[in-house]
Amino acid sequence: MEIEIATIGGYEEVGRQMTAVRAGDDVVIFDMGLNLSKVLLHDNVETEKLHSLDLIDMGAIPDDRVMSDLEGDVKAIVPTHGHLDHIGAISKLAHRYNAPIVASPFTIELVKQQIQGEEKFGVENDLMKMEAGETMQLSDEVELEFVNVTHSIIDAINPVVHTPEGAIVYGLDKRMDHSPVLGDPIDMKRFREIGREGPGVLAYIEDCTNAGRKGRTPSESVARRHLKDVLYSIQDYDGGIVATTFSSHIARVKSLVEFADDIGRTPVLLGRSMEKYSGTAERLNFVDFPEDMGMFGHRKSVDRTFKRIMKEGKENYLPIVTGHQGEPRAMLTRMGRGETPYQLQDGDKVVFSARVIPEPTNEGQRYQSERLLKMQGARIFDDVHVSGHLREEGHYEMLDALQPQHVIPAHQNMKGYAPYVDLCESQGYRLGRDLHATRNGNLIQLVD
Ligand SMILES: [Zn+2]
Repeated sequence: MEIEIATIGGYEEVGRQMTAVRAGDDVVIFDMGLNLSKVLLHDNVETEKLHSLDLIDMGAIPDDRVMSDLEGDVKAIVPTHGHLDHIGAISKLAHRYNAPIVASPFTIELVKQQIQGEEKFGVENDLMKMEAGETMQLSDEVELEFVNVTHSIIDAINPVVHTPEGAIVYGLDKRMDHSPVLGDPIDMKRFREIGREGPGVLAYIEDCTNAGRKGRTPSESVARRHLKDVLYSIQDYDGGIVATTFSSHIARVKSLVEFADDIGRTPVLLGRSMEKYSGTAERLNFVDFPEDMGMFGHRKSVDRTFKRIMKEGKENYLPIVTGHQGEPRAMLTRMGRGETPYQLQDGDKVVFSARVIPEPTNEGQRYQSERLLKMQGARIFDDVHVSGHLREEGHYEMLDALQPQHVIPAHQNMKGYAPYVDLCESQGYRLGRDLHATRNGNLIQLVD
């Protein structure tokens, strides 16, 4: 059976991920992501109203024109998890393919919301839920399987396409977490089985984000302990404490909510995306928040909540807000600019349960946001966080478990691939032979 891989997006950047695998006549697409930084460069761009081709020209969504060189029928579009760099282009590209979107329950719900917000294209692909551990027959000889992984968003999976020539494992976005705060540990047992059963693994596509960092990425339970230590250390403070994290990081939001309660403060989630992700997770029973906990997204209800907090005393509340990267329009930045009824004063604490995404735009915005907060007298706690991506030891372990014949680095630019290429070569792979560093828009023929 001919096996071919199209590296469509995310092979020159972090963002706009998209890869397709052809096995005989069957094609499976993994991810259709958005590179948000390419959108934010422009003022007042509303992606909901833009045409795909304009977004492709901006470098914001994958240039999927290479798909016309791939001879076969698209059988499924498979987003691996709900981060925007993996699902953010679905509303712009999926309608071009006559195939269902197959994803885990939390991811499919986020995809549904994204499609509902789309104003340019009618996306009518079927939405199909599939849980980790389940499989789906795509044709007589080709099967799709979801393996449970742990990442900085709940319900993440790594999809596997089983073919007579071996398995193709799409390994983006995970860390090796054996004690996550929400959900099951990573299913390493299954990865080891896949590496040893039948024809083994033909190809492994891997996320190189942290490949240059030694050791192992700590578990979410370590971030939770760090957060507990920080919040307990300021529990006697009788002024304002504000926290921020990734809205989509439900496990972290859950920890923040619990520790707020422990130190005698009422947690309240503020900001549009806070309300969106936590509301969705609660509705789908992924997390239990206190029944009376407030979640507000609209400007008016947020302002009303801030007024109530100021009236009843800041010492009684812990607002959990958007703005961990210093995004100019997010809640925390607005608080720093004094645009909300919540008034920071000397000694108030601001906890960033996040790390700045190392990218000049983010770094600049976050710097400005912190300056604004400090000018109001706020004291900053930063980096109360662990990454969602594998470091060196996790990469060694995955190669050992899967024993892939071919490895394809992804989710980075050439510079970002370099440490992973070195790591693979130390394990016997050779660049250009069975290790394929490539760019957007290429085809890799694995079996003729
Ligand atoms: Zn991710």
